[in-house]
Amino acid sequence: MHNSFQGLMICKNDRGSSEMRMGISGLTKVYGLFGDPVEHSLSPIMQNTAFQALGLDCVYLPFLVQSKDIAGAVQAVRALHLGGVNLTIPHKERVLPYLDEVEKEAEFIGAVNTIVNRNGRLCGYNTDAPGFLASLKAAGFDPSGKNAVILGAGGAARAVSFALAKKGARGIYIFNRRVEKAEKLAADLKAAYQVPTFSGDLSSDLAASLKDAELLVNATPVGMYPNHTSRPLFTRKQLHQGLLVCDLIYNPLRTRLLEEAEAAGCRILNGVGMLVWQGALAFQLWTGKKAPAALMEEAVLKALRGKDRDG
Ligand code: NAP
Repeated sequence: MHNSFQGLMICKNDRGSSEMRMGISGLTKVYGLFGDPVEHSLSPIMQNTAFQALGLDCVYLPFLVQSKDIAGAVQAVRALHLGGVNLTIPHKERVLPYLDEVEKEAEFIGAVNTIVNRNGRLCGYNTDAPGFLASLKAAGFDPSGKNAVILGAGGAARAVSFALAKKGARGIYIFNRRVEKAEKLAADLKAAYQVPTFSGDLSSDLAASLKDAELLVNATPVGMYPNHTSRPLFTRKQLHQGLLVCDLIYNPLRTRLLEEAEAAGCRILNGVGMLVWQGALAFQLWTGKKAPAALMEEAVLKALRGKDRDG
């Protein structure tokens, strides 16, 4: 529990007793985000809201880490005794060789977005995949036994499709601009989960693939700020009412794809849920405590709706 009064905080320490201090002290546990760019990230707002809500003596900071520096940055997690970090573009895939241990699911996906520092031993996890499933669950959608169409074959598409396969999706269709990446993802999915897959490029008959699908996921940046006016990869005529259309983009909150989907009578879901749940699961891995997901979501929405927010 904590109270803050003009920068003065009353926090409970590890021993459960209250102490009064100016926000950060020598005991404060530091967490962070490694990425390039990081300045627009909502993770600091989200994680610091969660730490404060639970009265934890922890802080979360963004660190600008360029690709060439990732090995040094990972070593710094050990040297500086950071509690853990999140990883974003361009590090999620490149970080794997520098870790001491990688959870099986993250290894399948080929991407780590959360590192936990256990006494100098760095363990890698992927919370994007279960975060996506948690956002589907919150939207009342169970993917087991259903067909899904995924647009994109990058890091997010890999996390989403592995999550769907693990949850028992009937079939997964992957369409990507560069077809070889879609083919590779389809082959990896089949090898890991024996799920039927189909892959193609964006000139394929996308609408035909949707006929017996119940979920469409946009895992490309098409429609994301500042290119939010670009034409979506599907228009309302190609969609049908039986679909849940999920856009992993959260800025803007309503992309053109989601507007088209709503006009076609589909249910819609934006990327806020996945963002919040991947963060909540990282928080739980670091602290061992249940994350205040509703408060984290509130903080994210407030930031996204804030004046002049641009990315
Ligand atoms: P990524 O690894 O760079 O992959 C991007 C994918 O989008 C690739 O498959 C790429 O195709 C495709 N693509 C890029 N520009 C395109 C265009 N103009 N037309 C068609 N396809 C295009 O990125 P990512 O990490 O997977 O992120 C993808 C999206 O998911 C982003 O919008 C990101 O903000 C969102 N995301 C959301 C969350 C969340 O928590 N809500 C988490 C992660 C990502 P090629 O392979 O042909 O280049």
